[in-house]
Amino acid sequence: MKPFDFVQPTTTDAVLAALVEHSSNVRILCGGTDYVVELKYVAQSPGVVVDVSRLEDLKGIELTDAGLRIGAGVTHSEIMADPLIAEHAPAMIDAAHTVGAVQTRNLGTLGGNLVTCVPSMDSGPTLLALDAQVTILGPKGTRQIDLSKFFVGVRKTALEPDELLLEVIIPKDNLGKPAGFIKFGLRKGQALALVNAASAFWVDDGKFKDVRIALGAVAPVVMRAIKAEAHLEGQAISLELIDEAAKLSIDEAKPIDDFRASKEYRNSLIEVGARRTLQAVLDLANG
Ligand SMILES: Cc1cc2nc3c(=O)[nH]c(=O)nc-3n(C[C@H](O)[C@H](O)[C@H](O)COP(=O)(O)OP(=O)(O)OC[C@H]3O[C@@H](n4cnc5c(N)ncnc54)[C@H](O)[C@@H]3O)c2cc1C
Repeated sequence: MKPFDFVQPTTTDAVLAALVEHSSNVRILCGGTDYVVELKYVAQSPGVVVDVSRLEDLKGIELTDAGLRIGAGVTHSEIMADPLIAEHAPAMIDAAHTVGAVQTRNLGTLGGNLVTCVPSMDSGPTLLALDAQVTILGPKGTRQIDLSKFFVGVRKTALEPDELLLEVIIPKDNLGKPAGFIKFGLRKGQALALVNAASAFWVDDGKFKDVRIALGAVAPVVMRAIKAEAHLEGQAISLELIDEAAKLSIDEAKPIDDFRASKEYRNSLIEVGARRTLQAVLDLANG
């Protein structure tokens, strides 16, 4: 590990000042479960590491006029234990539960997971299925974008070097929307996703409404299976249609072929993941 300076500001103003001052050579750290691993292998020192884990502005889970606000510094364990998440977005608990082991979940944060932006991240699919938005803070103030636009590429987000991810918001209209999450790995615990998936929809007068199917580890960024969603939208609920949509999901993904799993195997996981999560949503919607 190369030497670096380490600062622990307690206000967002101080964080932004540090990011601006050292903009060419600065990195943020929160729980450190991704970044400390990366730090061990970087050829060049990051210069200055800004620890944001003490920022009150990044903490807390609360209902606001906009919806359910989850601070970027909230840990996966906090998500799992939170009554508001359990009431309004319980699929997030299923996703958080699959992140690493208890030690990883105690330190690792939602914001860190999204900013690392690897295709296999476990927070992404459920949040995408619930149309989450993110609030970004930079020297010019805050800006809010859809999570789908936050993911730009493998390990690349819409964040500028002098910006900080502040919070994730699940819009008010989507609170309580039935949603399901599933993760497939090489073993049941402590495994990165070969494929993960989340689905959500409302049942409106016996029809699919606002259908979302989100897939992880099958493309450079967590993605929605738009054609499969459209196949269901507005149609009368049926298991046959769910089967068809699950098959269609494969067409939109671009899974890799590597030592962990073949492309064909991942394709079959996409279909199974989409089908099981859609069926789980139907079960939830039917009470
Ligand atoms: C043993 C192990 C198992 C793991 N298993 C899983 C798993 O099963 N599923 C999974 O999805 N992940 C897994 N991870 C990855 C990791 O734990 C998560 O991605 C975690 O949520 C990262 O959060 P963090 O706070 O530790 O991020 P950090 O390591 O602190 O930061 C990660 C990145 O995000 C940036 N960053 C952090 N917070 C902010 C912010 N507020 N604003 C701007 N930039 C920010 C940092 O600069 C860095 O680039 C695992 C990691 C380990 C070590």
